[in-house]
Amino acid sequence: MPTTVITGGTGGIGVETARALLAASPDRAVALVDLKVSDIPEPLAAYGGRVAVFACDVTDEQSVAATGAEIRAAMPSVDSLVNGAGIVHNDASIDMPMDRFRAMLAVHVEGTLLWCRQVARSLHGPGSIVNIGSIAGQFGHPRRIAYGAAKAAVHSITKTLAVEWAGRGIRVNAVTPGYIETPMMKEVARIGLVDADVAAGWAAMKRLGSPAEVAAAIRFLLSDEASFITGHILNVDGGFAVLK
Ligand code: NDP
Repeated sequence: MPTTVITGGTGGIGVETARALLAASPDRAVALVDLKVSDIPEPLAAYGGRVAVFACDVTDEQSVAATGAEIRAAMPSVDSLVNGAGIVHNDASIDMPMDRFRAMLAVHVEGTLLWCRQVARSLHGPGSIVNIGSIAGQFGHPRRIAYGAAKAAVHSITKTLAVEWAGRGIRVNAVTPGYIETPMMKEVARIGLVDADVAAGWAAMKRLGSPAEVAAAIRFLLSDEASFITGHILNVDGGFAVLK
């Protein structure tokens, strides 16, 4: 029974990704990695022993190494990874404190790279990785200088690792969600970046996406159905990009 590690695993997209993977294969387990130790999220309770939660700060190299070891000891062999840990800020570029810029890059860029390396180092056969980028890494969004830069770097990391690791049988892809109805979207509205109804209007489909719609794309890219796809950045944005 192979295991998929999901960082940001108890977040909105993380839980739905876990559910999609568990529902698609009775032989798969998932290791949810998140900042705080928590109970197994309620939507996954039915999957019992195939789900476990691990506390880890993805910005801390020692925490990533220790959690990687913990997962290898407790779970069946890891063959795949989803990097979904994320934070969002509202900062004007002109006077944003640089520690906030670095904190953003630490979670998205360093966290993604550290977990990619952690999983790749322990793989003895083929593997598959999906990083969660964002349309914010492809287009200008005011007051999101750090988030946009971080996500653009995630896209770049995805392509570089796809090239470096293709010979080892490890595929590396990314999804770029548009505005998705999760706790992060609530935070985006709370801190004054954009309200949900306005964000919905920016998509050709004139609505927010659901976490399950992002999860479906991630499940596909992780699976053998995508066996000849690597280094791809897949928009899951309801047509946000085509309107730009
Ligand atoms: P959520 O806020 O629901 O989930 C993000 C998760 O990341 C949270 O569980 C959070 O933990 C965790 N996290 C934050 N910092 C760390 C850290 N240092 N170490 C470990 N875990 C951490 O957001 P989404 O599910 O919406 O986001 C998932 C991914 O999708 C993110 O990368 C986000 O940037 C991306 N995305 C989301 C979009 C959206 O509209 N929702 C659009 C485009 C991309 P805790 O809650 O404990 O802080």
